[in-house]
Amino acid sequence: MKNIAIIGSGFSSLAAACYLAKAGNNVTVYEKNNTIGGRARQLKKDGFTFDMGPTWYWMPDVFERFFDDFGKKPSDFYELEKLNPAYRVYFGKDDYITIEDTLEKICLAFEKEEVGSSIKLRKFMNQALDNYNIAIKDLVYRPGVSPLELVTTTTMKKIGQFFSTISKDVRSEFTNPKLISILEFPVLFLGAKPSNTPAFYSFMNYADFGLGTFHPKKGMFSVVEGIKNLAEELGVTIKTNQNVEKICVENGKANALIINDKKIRTDVVLSGADYHHTETLLDEPLRQYSENYWAKKTFAPSALLFYVGFNKKIEKVDHHTLFFDVDFEKHSQEIYDGPQWPEEPLFYASFPSKTDKSVSPEGMEAGIFLIPLAPGLDDIPEIREEYFQKIMTRFEKITNQQVNKYVIFKESFCINDFITDYNSYKGNAYGLANTLMQTAFLRPKLKSGKVKNLYFTGQLTVPGPGVPPALISGKLTAGLIEKANKF
Ligand SMILES: Cc1cc2nc3c(=O)[nH]c(=O)nc-3n(C[C@H](O)[C@H](O)[C@H](O)COP(=O)(O)OP(=O)(O)OC[C@H]3O[C@@H](n4cnc5c(N)ncnc54)[C@H](O)[C@@H]3O)c2cc1C
Repeated sequence: MKNIAIIGSGFSSLAAACYLAKAGNNVTVYEKNNTIGGRARQLKKDGFTFDMGPTWYWMPDVFERFFDDFGKKPSDFYELEKLNPAYRVYFGKDDYITIEDTLEKICLAFEKEEVGSSIKLRKFMNQALDNYNIAIKDLVYRPGVSPLELVTTTTMKKIGQFFSTISKDVRSEFTNPKLISILEFPVLFLGAKPSNTPAFYSFMNYADFGLGTFHPKKGMFSVVEGIKNLAEELGVTIKTNQNVEKICVENGKANALIINDKKIRTDVVLSGADYHHTETLLDEPLRQYSENYWAKKTFAPSALLFYVGFNKKIEKVDHHTLFFDVDFEKHSQEIYDGPQWPEEPLFYASFPSKTDKSVSPEGMEAGIFLIPLAPGLDDIPEIREEYFQKIMTRFEKITNQQVNKYVIFKESFCINDFITDYNSYKGNAYGLANTLMQTAFLRPKLKSGKVKNLYFTGQLTVPGPGVPPALISGKLTAGLIEKANKF
């Protein structure tokens, strides 16, 4: 039995904690904030409940597989509902496409936009399903230790798709710009431009159209609470308000943490805090990656978020609503190529109270608004307000209704908060993007190459951004620790 200290209480840390406790270790989680969940924290205000980070529950099979490893099911911890419609995408005033809950219905929606497109969509989805079976059922569960992990008979047949992009693949079949935007949308979760994301990642399209969008009752935070309950059942101790200030290393081995000026001895340190930050807790010669290394990486976007209480029901929107009524390419360039505040931002709005009565008072609406941004921009209160007014004006015009005057409160969260609350590199929201050169063994490693007994997990390492990958990342790191423990 080893003493294992885990830094952070995001999905990846909590998942790793469960596996390590199940293996018989003495596991303690140290979280700097006063609540757990990391980027998936919850905000409660005046009878409203908001998920502060993830709102899209995709890949339900990954959650099932996680709980199944402990002889449990998601329904032992939270209630899931498949959303119908899954989401709506606006392209202009009263101009939108609704994505429903089955491929058959989605094919009808495509056909309405462009005759013949449903046949192309089915072909595209067959490929996406094939990729899903290879990637999510197998490849992502490999720890990124060696390039050989990617070499299988099935991946060799797909090699061309690693060197083409989602953007090229979609455009080779579809010409309608609205359908192109909808098919390029899922890979935005991976944090890079569709034109910089390998075509193989079309498995995200299968997650979207093939598996569908789910909502855990009371929000994504109920999943955090479920995993916390599981962890505690397995004997994990979770401590909040514990800011780790230093990782102590003796004779090349991590053997203690400094928290609130106290030294806490441990056998193994596992960090689910952002990778860059974790390495700053070490003396410089013990860090594996230089500042220059991080500066050259493609980070997933940051975001400007608003959590808004409205004192009336909002019309003409669904639980998830995307506003793609402006130039997708221009906003992408403002995130990735020439980082700046976007002139006309795309944005996403979630109204969980459309389907979940528990998250707002009766007759009212909880609204979450997200504008993706380049990490590292200047974040000042005046700009946040300017952008709130900008998107409210667009929202009112596009959906043809007044909403701004029904705002009873709004809370914002942006780059500076990501840095202060999560020690996020440049205030990134979703970690390190999944580009070709940042996939699998090319990502920062789960195990330190310089310090023994020091491990990493989470969205900056393997396999990448998102809640399902965070659960997988926790499992992978726990597996490496267990393997090392055996020798
Ligand atoms: C706005 C937003 C929307 C998103 N939407 C979705 C979505 O819809 N669907 C989806 O699947 N994914 C989504 N994601 C991504 C998903 O939330 C993340 O990939 C995942 O939650 C990351 O988990 P993690 O464990 O890697 O890191 P985190 O959740 O960041 O956990 C790291 C933890 O470490 C703690 N920590 C940092 N430094 C220290 C220290 N020195 N001492 C102690 N603790 C420390 C932090 O406080 C934090 O709790 C979204 C993310 C954001 C931000």
